[in-house]
Amino acid sequence: MAPVFSSFVDRIGGEGAEAWEVHILASRRIKAGEDVVNLSIGDPDFVTDGAIIDAAVDSLRRGRTHYTNSRGEPELLAALASHYRKALGRSVSPGQFAVCAGAQNALFASLLCLLDRGDEIIVLEPTYVTYEAAIGASGATQMQVPLRPENGFHLDPSALAAAVTPRTKAIAINTPHNPTGAVMTQAELQAVADLAIAHDLWVISDEVYAQITFEGDHHYLASLPGMAERCVIVSSLSKSHAMTGWRLGWIMGPEVLIGHVDNLLGCMLYGSPPFIQDAAIHALGAGQAVTKTMVETYRKRRDFVCDRLARMPLIAHHKPEGGMFAMIDVRATGMSGQDFAMALLEQQGVALLPGEAFGPSAAGHVRFSLVSGEADLTKGCDRLHRFLTDLKTRSPQNVKASS
Ligand code: PMP
Repeated sequence: MAPVFSSFVDRIGGEGAEAWEVHILASRRIKAGEDVVNLSIGDPDFVTDGAIIDAAVDSLRRGRTHYTNSRGEPELLAALASHYRKALGRSVSPGQFAVCAGAQNALFASLLCLLDRGDEIIVLEPTYVTYEAAIGASGATQMQVPLRPENGFHLDPSALAAAVTPRTKAIAINTPHNPTGAVMTQAELQAVADLAIAHDLWVISDEVYAQITFEGDHHYLASLPGMAERCVIVSSLSKSHAMTGWRLGWIMGPEVLIGHVDNLLGCMLYGSPPFIQDAAIHALGAGQAVTKTMVETYRKRRDFVCDRLARMPLIAHHKPEGGMFAMIDVRATGMSGQDFAMALLEQQGVALLPGEAFGPSAAGHVRFSLVSGEADLTKGCDRLHRFLTDLKTRSPQNVKASS
C-alpha cells in the first residue's frame, strides 16, 4: 500500500518524453567519449552576449538579490511594452505583460488561466512536444489540425474551421514553427483571426522564434484588428538572445488575463530573479543587435545545409522560412522517422529527432537542427550523405524509386 497521486500526474506524463530517446542516447555516447554529432537539440550554440552577462553581474553586485514583484519589475514590463508597441504598431501597456520562467512557463501559466476540463483547444500538428502535457495539465482536450508536408507544413484554413466545435475555447499557433520551420503568412493569420472572432475564441501565439526569420519578417497575429482582446503571446529571450538557461519569458495579453496570471505566478513562482530581469532589460534594448548577427549565422547555416541536403539521394527537405530547424522527408527510404534516426545514430553517429515525436503529419521525417557550428554541420551532412548512399546501394529493393 502507498498513498496515491493526483490525476494531474497522469495528465503531465504525455508521450512527448519519447521524442528525446535519440537525443538522450546521443548525449550519453558523447559523454562516454564517442564521436557523435548531435543535431537533435534546440538550444542555441552561441554563448549569451558579454554585455548582457555584465548587466546581470552588475545587478547582483548592486544587491538585486531579493524578492520582486510576482508579475515582473516595472522597468522590464515597460521595456516589453515598448518592444511590442513598435512590433505591433498599436498601443500596448505594461499592464499587458507578466514575466515568466521562459516561454514554456508562460504557455503553462496561460493555459491554466484560459482552459478548463471539458474545453477543447485546437493545436496545429506537428506540435512542439511539451504542448501535450501543458494542455493536459489544464484538463482541456487538444484537437489536432494537420499541417501537411505536401503543403509545406502550412495551414489549411478550411481544416482549421472544420475543427471548431461548441466546446472549442482556444486555438494554439506557433510561428515560426518548431519543428517544420514554416512561417505563417499574413493570410493564414487572418484566417485564424477571423475564426477566433467568429467563435469568440482565445488564440495562444507561441512566438519564441519571432526574431529568427529568413524570408521577410515575422507577422504578428496580435497586430490584426480584433486580436487585442483575445490574442495571448508567449515568448522569451531563449532563442533571440541565446539565453535558454536564463529562463526569462513573458505572456502578453489582455490586462484582465494578466491579473489572473499574476495570481498564479504569486502562488507558483513568486517572481522572476531581479538580476535576470535587469539583464533582460539590457537584452531588449542595446542587446537587440546580438539577434541580428545570430540570424545571419543561422541563415548561412540553413543555406549550407539545404544545399547539401538537395544533393543527397532518397530524401527531400523543407527549406526553413524561420526558426532553427530543417525537416527532412525520409519516406522514400521506406523507414519511419524513428527507425531512420536510430539507424543513422547507430551506423554513422549522427543524432536527428524523429518527426513522429511531433505528430502524425511529421511521420517519415526527421528534424535537423541548425544550432551547431560549421564543422559539426559539415560532418553531420557528410555522414548523412554516406548513410543514404549506403542505404541506396545495400537495399535498393527496400527503397522507393527516388533519385
Ligand atoms: N515553444 C517552442 C515552439 C519551443 O521550441 C520552445 C523551446 N524549444 C519553447 C516554447 C520553450 O522555450 P523557453 O526556453 O522560452 O521556455
